[in-house]
Amino acid sequence: MNVFRSIQDFKNWRSKLPPPVSVGFVPTMGALHPGHASLIRRSLLENDITILSIFVNPTQFGPNEDFNQYPRTLEEDLELARSLRVDAVLLPTVADVYPTHYSTMICESVVSKPLCGIFRPGHFDGVTTIVLKLFLGVRPNHAYFGMKDAQQFYVIQKMVKDLDLELSVVGVDTVREESGLALSSRNRYLSSDARTRVAPMIYTWLCRLREEILSKGAAPSIQLAARDLKEAGFQIQYLEIRSLPRLESFDASIWQKDQDLLIAFAGLLEKTRLIDNVIVQAIH
Ligand code: AMP
Repeated sequence: MNVFRSIQDFKNWRSKLPPPVSVGFVPTMGALHPGHASLIRRSLLENDITILSIFVNPTQFGPNEDFNQYPRTLEEDLELARSLRVDAVLLPTVADVYPTHYSTMICESVVSKPLCGIFRPGHFDGVTTIVLKLFLGVRPNHAYFGMKDAQQFYVIQKMVKDLDLELSVVGVDTVREESGLALSSRNRYLSSDARTRVAPMIYTWLCRLREEILSKGAAPSIQLAARDLKEAGFQIQYLEIRSLPRLESFDASIWQKDQDLLIAFAGLLEKTRLIDNVIVQAIH
């Protein structure tokens, strides 16, 4: 497995790959778990070459967020990548990505605005900036993103479309614990009670709301869900239904069941921020 600590060294290697190869790319922030592994496996299946990047991107963290505390488990991550047979791992440094006097940011201005866009101002500008920089360096044919971060997926998909980038953005289903809790690098910060009993309530409610929408065309229990999650210990940031792919507000009175919906949650549990979502597939 090739491991590159500089973008230039990586580009030199990349430029020697023969053009017909299909390159799959999985960008991550490390602290890899089976959710990341499922993206990597999908890329390995669909491409000749799979490239993984691990970079904890400072520009997508707010000043009061957990950039410094974000888990870093490089040795284990490389072990996992090696065992999966990833072809190359890119581990750029902050100074390499954002040299002194760096001053260019990419901003998607519609899909990135609601939901996490409200609670994490500037977050998606950091995401689109790093992802575009990585796309330009890696030049993948297919890039793999988890639907756990559904808003991120739709923002990247929009950026790729708006900028005519020649690659496909592939969304991979969320990998969950048996309890339904979405795997996340941050779950390790939860107490055992929060992780096993409280956090799984998110997915239980999301599924119940999806059932309601499918059967009644609306989700009258959304307030009840918010109250129940609050009583269980969550400090809720949002629990909202939005239409896809642009994340516009959902109006049950005009929904024709021909448009996919996203039911999305974000909240703090014991100071750990958890997000999750389900998609309501339209009947076409
Ligand atoms: P992160 O390292 O948290 O930035 O995540 C890197 C990629 O892995 C993103 O595309 C995430 O959406 C994806 N990912 C994280 N958790 C999961 C999960 N539980 N299931 C599937 N994909 C995930």
